[in-house]
Amino acid sequence: MLEPIQSPSKIPFIWFEANACSGDSISLLNAVQPNLRQIILDILDVRYWNSLMPMQGEAAVCKLAATVEEGGFFLAVEGAIATAEQGRYAIPFKQKERSFTSEDLLRWMAPKAQYIIAVGTCACFGGPSAAKPNPSGSKGVWEIIKEPVINVAGCPINPDWFLGTLFHLIWFGFPEVDRYQRPTLFYGKTVHSMCQRRSYFDTDRFAKKLGDPECLFSLGCMGPVTGADCPSRMWNDHLNWPVKANTPCIGCTQSGFPDQSTPYFVTLPKKMPNKK
Ligand code: SF4
Repeated sequence: MLEPIQSPSKIPFIWFEANACSGDSISLLNAVQPNLRQIILDILDVRYWNSLMPMQGEAAVCKLAATVEEGGFFLAVEGAIATAEQGRYAIPFKQKERSFTSEDLLRWMAPKAQYIIAVGTCACFGGPSAAKPNPSGSKGVWEIIKEPVINVAGCPINPDWFLGTLFHLIWFGFPEVDRYQRPTLFYGKTVHSMCQRRSYFDTDRFAKKLGDPECLFSLGCMGPVTGADCPSRMWNDHLNWPVKANTPCIGCTQSGFPDQSTPYFVTLPKKMPNKK
């Protein structure tokens, strides 16, 4: 039995999902020590989380409105914000004939939030939601609002990246971030700098096909330009990660993902990995 986590008090918390696949919410279910149940019971006072809350409809909207009115909550945004056609590609709810778009809701909530975390590459930089030709005009949260945003990138996020950021905010405040507003704690080093196949790269021994044990640079690995600690932290209860599972890093934490990571199996100099 795990011990309860000691927190100063439970944090009012809103998880708002815009243009997303819910992959980051799902990935968070893989959190261990603490797990998501502990987080919800001991750390967060979850007021709104459309994937997890039992409340729905008018009652859920009223709870959201009361929390925003009160202010001082932590706001996590999953998914990109649709801006084309006055944001009508994403209408989380309607009230009395009025449609509220994701952009409306973000602009309403952001000034009242204590901290804003963009969760996943769609929320950070547009990600797959903003992939060409991007008919919905999807953008990252920090492109829409002026308030500071912490970009916890990844497609999906590693649960530790979100929870580590959350705990940093609770106990130490705003974390150190890089020029993409990503916490350096998790994104400050490249995948390449920690990769178990680095010795093959340094001695020019490259894989010819998937399944070969050598460096995957020849098969389009984005590790040299991707900031993330996947090789040391790993996934699925710290068990495995893409290169260890014989597939190249696809650069999912980068601002240009996925357009500038593709085609996936083409070597890196032919691709431009970042935007902005
Ligand atoms: S597999 Fe990728 S991350 Fe690992 S050493 Fe080769 S290029 Fe770098």
